[in-house]
Amino acid sequence: MLIVLLGPPAAGKGTQAKKICNSLSIPHISTGSILRQNISEKTPLGEVASLYINKGDLVPDEVIIAVVKDRLRQPDCAKGALLDGFPRTLRQAEELDELIQVDKVIDIEVSRQILTERVTGRRVCKNCGTNYHISVYTESNCNCGGSLQTREDDTEAALAVRLNNYDKQTLPLRQYYAGDNRLIQVSGIGTPAEVFERIKEALA
Ligand code: AMP
Repeated sequence: MLIVLLGPPAAGKGTQAKKICNSLSIPHISTGSILRQNISEKTPLGEVASLYINKGDLVPDEVIIAVVKDRLRQPDCAKGALLDGFPRTLRQAEELDELIQVDKVIDIEVSRQILTERVTGRRVCKNCGTNYHISVYTESNCNCGGSLQTREDDTEAALAVRLNNYDKQTLPLRQYYAGDNRLIQVSGIGTPAEVFERIKEALA
């Protein structure tokens, strides 16, 4: 099963992706994580991505499409995968449809005020990528021992750019996927467990 997770920054896509992938035993493909990993390893892809990502801009379509095509060809994706953060533009969605059958698209909806609170309090483990929020997690290290950091694009200024990009470039995908009944809309308000229950029900 090939699942796409849609939703604005900090809607909870990463957290829900882990839960869905555990329950369906499919790999979690987060384009944002792949890019951040490449930036920290200073690869050529990372150098290109850093020109866009820290400002909150989208990486060019041809760059990210090549990354996803390559990742979906890996043997662990033979029985499906969950794409988190891809597609984000109509062109990406169209190219994905040419490449593979997308079965379900889960769109997580959260109000703007809550997104801002989540983004400014978000900390990410440098080691394993787990997300925490400072309102509920007060340790300075992750459970795995890695240090916690604020993402460079988790500032209010970069968030404004990311939300603007989301409205202009990604929101039209709702209509694209609603057209042939692939779209599932789920409220992202509540605990991660509550949101996951809604997703499980919708997928069943
Ligand atoms: P995320 O971790 O999903 O919030 O992604 C972080 C950043 O990576 C985004 O703000 C973009 O700069 C870049 N990025 C991730 N996925 C894509 C994509 N599908 N298309 C273009 N840029 C992307």
